[in-house]
Amino acid sequence: MKKQKVELPNALADALTLLKLPHAIVIAGPEKQGRDVARLLAKTLLCPHREGCTPCGTCGSCTSFEAESHPDFRLLRDEKSIKVDQVRDLKARSLLRPIGEGGCVFIVERADLMTPQSAKALLKLMEEPPAYLTLILQTALPDMLPDTLLSRTTVYQVEAEAQMQASLRKDAERFIDCLLEQSYYSLLAMQPKLSSDRAGFMRFCDALCAVCLERLSTGVAVEKATLFLNIPKTAMSYKERADGTTSMPLLAASFLIECKHHYS
Ligand SMILES: [Zn+2]
Repeated sequence: MKKQKVELPNALADALTLLKLPHAIVIAGPEKQGRDVARLLAKTLLCPHREGCTPCGTCGSCTSFEAESHPDFRLLRDEKSIKVDQVRDLKARSLLRPIGEGGCVFIVERADLMTPQSAKALLKLMEEPPAYLTLILQTALPDMLPDTLLSRTTVYQVEAEAQMQASLRKDAERFIDCLLEQSYYSLLAMQPKLSSDRAGFMRFCDALCAVCLERLSTGVAVEKATLFLNIPKTAMSYKERADGTTSMPLLAASFLIECKHHYS
């Protein structure tokens, strides 16, 4: 079976790229997906040659991570319950300075299985975390975590992100189809949605570029190829302009009109 590509949720990738990742993170969402994201994040943080939010995959850090022998990484996982001794071990381990350049990364999988005592012990670690430590809690049931713990973490939703990506993609597909079918009324009808959310508009531009490049790679007629080349250019320039104080309704309207000109 083909291995599915794991990607970090956008909010997480943005924080990582901007080096603004909090020291304690909850990855909330379906277990398998959450686990994959937590591990990818750990591997990325540890890799000294990472590019943005992608680990290089070949350095000593990446290979030892894959071999489950990375000296700066710990994974705490238990099928039934996470006991206080296990958390105390983790806390003791956190006092050892990292060997590599990426700091230390600890993952607690199924953090909802912590006993109340375990959660208390973990809270102690979170109250005085060493600067080099990133703590990742993975859970499908974030509501089961105590509020005291949640208030010291940033929660990233995995599922919501996947759903959002799917819906952005659908919008981008529809946008392209409207252009190709020259149904400009339907195209203009997308204006309110596009202008309702600045960050959403910027993500829509990214999704649009991705769809254009995919369609381009399938081999298309010349006039369509021109469209698929021009739309990403326009989308990128509007994405840049959305990152400011420009009026979103005006911006979205002129974006739609400019895109329309590429195929009429
Ligand atoms: Zn690497």
